[in-house]
Amino acid sequence: MSNIEYNVMSEHAAEFIHDGEIRATLQYAIDHKNDKALVEEILAKAEKGGGLTHREAAVLIEVEDKEIEERMYAIARKLKEQIYGNRIVMFAPLYLSNYCVNGCVYCPYHAKNRTIPRRKLTQEEIRREVIALQDMGHKRLALETGEHPTQSPIEYVLESIDTIYSIHHKNGAIRRVNVNIAATTVENYTRLKDAGIGTYILFEETYDREAYEKLHPTGPKSDWAYHTEAMDRAMLGGIDDVGVGALFGLSNYRYDVVGILMHAEHLEARFGVGPHTISVPRIRPADDIDPRDFPNAVTDEVFRRIVAVLRLAVPYTGMIVSTRESQRSRELVLDVGVSQLSGGSKTSVGGYAEGIEDAEESAQFDISDNRTLDQIVGWLLELGYIPSFCTACYREGRTGDRFMSLAKRGLIGNCCAPNALMTLAEYAEDYASPRVKVEALKMIDSLKRVIPSEKIRRITEDNLRAIVEGKRDFRF
Ligand code: SF4
Ligand code: SF4
Repeated sequence: MSNIEYNVMSEHAAEFIHDGEIRATLQYAIDHKNDKALVEEILAKAEKGGGLTHREAAVLIEVEDKEIEERMYAIARKLKEQIYGNRIVMFAPLYLSNYCVNGCVYCPYHAKNRTIPRRKLTQEEIRREVIALQDMGHKRLALETGEHPTQSPIEYVLESIDTIYSIHHKNGAIRRVNVNIAATTVENYTRLKDAGIGTYILFEETYDREAYEKLHPTGPKSDWAYHTEAMDRAMLGGIDDVGVGALFGLSNYRYDVVGILMHAEHLEARFGVGPHTISVPRIRPADDIDPRDFPNAVTDEVFRRIVAVLRLAVPYTGMIVSTRESQRSRELVLDVGVSQLSGGSKTSVGGYAEGIEDAEESAQFDISDNRTLDQIVGWLLELGYIPSFCTACYREGRTGDRFMSLAKRGLIGNCCAPNALMTLAEYAEDYASPRVKVEALKMIDSLKRVIPSEKIRRITEDNLRAIVEGKRDFRF
């Protein structure tokens, strides 16, 4: 029996992601899944929008009753609608380099894979990639890079961020760069903050330490505690928007859902603000990787339940699904709480611009949703969502607890809706196909009339007219 105790405030990973507490929670969920009174109490609490504890969420993950499941989905849908409206924020990943010193067994970039071409973008190639992304209509990127002390040191990442922000091609601009790089030091997080990043994203992969250590046998990432404490260092370094996530399918999904929520509770307890986003990737086939080697695969139905329960547990946290997911499974989870989608993505190094050598073969994983950004925007409009290219919060200084306090008072929707309409109008003018433009303008026209505040509605309408005349970058 270990003598480590659970402590949500601790700076030590083994105490705030406490294995004993997670296992006790999973047992509690099994013991209480048929306790109707308790389940009703949890649903009633979720409906009020104040979130759930990791124990309450674990019970909902276990419940087998189909009627309860449908009610969970209905509450998740309602919460999302109340907090964010029906907008879906769009982004794209940009892979800088696939050199990596780690040995993650589920990733083709692992150091021992000799079949994948290794690529690192030069600043000129980054410029070409960013222009290609701007020409699609993207405004928000997630930078991705393998961990390598000489191929992708922090200086390379910082220089790349500067390059990306400096490029203004036609009406294009990348207005928010989120960064997904390996766990690093407080000092390096401060440098990222000073470079103007949006969210710092790092997936835990799995919160189960024993499984984690088997899946990460070599390289700096094999240090579970250093990896798990990364968000604490990021916050100490001044970054107040962090994005967590687990790679579902690597280990027991129930353990990882509880781990994500305990991580969120820890950040909230220690720093006063939980994660800005949660990503829910699932394992995919890739060069040298066969998902059949991972027996913990998560079905579409379970995946939907995971997303809905997370939405109930942390209603104010953005939830991200990538093009790893097919159109069908994206539809299933959009409906119960996902708020950000990637679109038109390439998971290779140099995949967006024409003619970058070996780009195709350098992909990190196979994409299930291969549609162009324009097709995805058209599809979202058809489903009744507003595709949004908004990056306003971070540029207006609404980050960390400032953002959360607005979101929790139900005020962020006052910004999201007009910003979504204005950025969609920019997309319609600059990048949309004729068919998607017609649909986008119809959506904008019907929704500008329902912005509740008269003052905001008037300003939005003025700005929409100015966008048609060629002006850009309005925001609340
Ligand atoms: Fe490297 Fe990240 Fe792939 Fe691991 S998951 S091998 S750290 S690129
Ligand atoms: Fe996101 Fe803020 Fe824009 Fe709303 S206003 S979509 S929360 S950046």
